[in-house]
Amino acid sequence: MPNFEAVIGLEVHAQMNTKSKMFCGCDNDAFGKPPNTTVCPICMGHPGTLPAPNKEAINKAAKASIAIGCEIQEDNHFDRKHYFYPDLPPGFQISQYDFPLSKAGEVKFNVVDDSGNKVGDQRICKITRLHMENDAGKLTHRGDKTLCDYNRAGTPLMEIVTEPDLRSAEEAVAFAQELRRILIAVNSSEADMFKGMMRFDASISIREKGAKELTPRSEIKNLNSFKSLEKALNYEFKRLCKLYEKEGKHLKNDITVGWVDDEEQTKMLRDKETAMDYRYFPEPDIPPLHFTKEDIKKLKYEIPALPSELKTKYEEMGLEDFEVRMLIDQPYSRSVFDAVYEKTDDIKRSRSIVLTQLAGIVKAEGDNFKKPDLDFIVEQLTELIADSRITKNQEKEFLSDIVIDGMTVKEIVESKGVRDVDESEIEELVNKAIKANPQAIESFKAGKEQALGAVVGWVMKESKGEADPAKVNDILKEKIDN
Ligand SMILES: [Zn+2]
Repeated sequence: MPNFEAVIGLEVHAQMNTKSKMFCGCDNDAFGKPPNTTVCPICMGHPGTLPAPNKEAINKAAKASIAIGCEIQEDNHFDRKHYFYPDLPPGFQISQYDFPLSKAGEVKFNVVDDSGNKVGDQRICKITRLHMENDAGKLTHRGDKTLCDYNRAGTPLMEIVTEPDLRSAEEAVAFAQELRRILIAVNSSEADMFKGMMRFDASISIREKGAKELTPRSEIKNLNSFKSLEKALNYEFKRLCKLYEKEGKHLKNDITVGWVDDEEQTKMLRDKETAMDYRYFPEPDIPPLHFTKEDIKKLKYEIPALPSELKTKYEEMGLEDFEVRMLIDQPYSRSVFDAVYEKTDDIKRSRSIVLTQLAGIVKAEGDNFKKPDLDFIVEQLTELIADSRITKNQEKEFLSDIVIDGMTVKEIVESKGVRDVDESEIEELVNKAIKANPQAIESFKAGKEQALGAVVGWVMKESKGEADPAKVNDILKEKIDN
């Protein structure tokens, strides 16, 4: 049996998180609103209405373009793409065809395992283009009836088309996840998969490893989760391999299939359309877009730190892969961590308090948990780290009082109290410690600085962790010196 490899390209649709729709003033946030309530004659495609492009959407798409390394085309324009479907009332979609907003970028990504650790080398997927268009409405099939909701019609979309640079379903998913992080980082899309804000069409061909010639392509439509992207590509890869073994070079033309989630298989939809079928022509109601070099420079200036840059920064700080990923994926944790570390300059404690303990609480509280105000939490965590009277055991309890009940460290200390082991008590323990650890004391006197750690540890243990280690250290040194 020949050894096949997959050749995969993606078309990614991402809804932009603008206030209004792509070509009208309708509310762009239709989530949870009754059907057909965020519509107007423009997005319903009534004759005689005029679309007006949304500047916010154009800016967001331009920023996304820059973030994926694409070059913005100084001159680009909208086209009409004609097809009939009940969710598309005008009978055409306003899209961009031969002069898209941007071209020729690339995204670097890593495949990672379930624990977030990198597998294999960094990969690169080239981006062919990014163009803007409007979304269609939504159809819901109930028995032999179909319900139409036009709230989504006219939502601003970015379509990002890749080169066929992906070699497995795993790679396709890893790339799509990295792309999602980038779109969120530049605030171009919320890319919430549950709300269908990011969807994929995947095209896959196979070839014998090392060969150039490809089999005809299958295009898999409308994949709306990473899971279905992965499953559909694996399914179609196996199907194409089997088919190739049976029919060899006599495989039929490119086809379009749909992924049926419940049945976990693809189903033939139709032969692939060509551009000719869509009768593209320049949209006569919208003037061409023009970007000056100055416009592009300004947009570039507004791009925040991208996931790849954050990755380098946190890796250089010595964080683990899973911590790096958490900081990239969770802007709230990132802001807290950055600020607490900046204020305390204590990487060890910042990591344990923010990335382990705080993250644990937030995760346990679930999606509906209202995260505390950033300034408040940073101030309290900084104080928690600075107050050496608070023991490790208390820390956890204090943290949950802060995060869940909104209490300040001062309030908690007042209400619960911290056992401040007084100096005479520490002195007594230190005296005992010196007697109990003669060898460590000798080593310290002989110049072995770290030998003192064992003695301090002895005192900490005796005081059940409640003594202030800095104080213990000071008193101990004083005693030895005398
Ligand atoms: Zn409208």
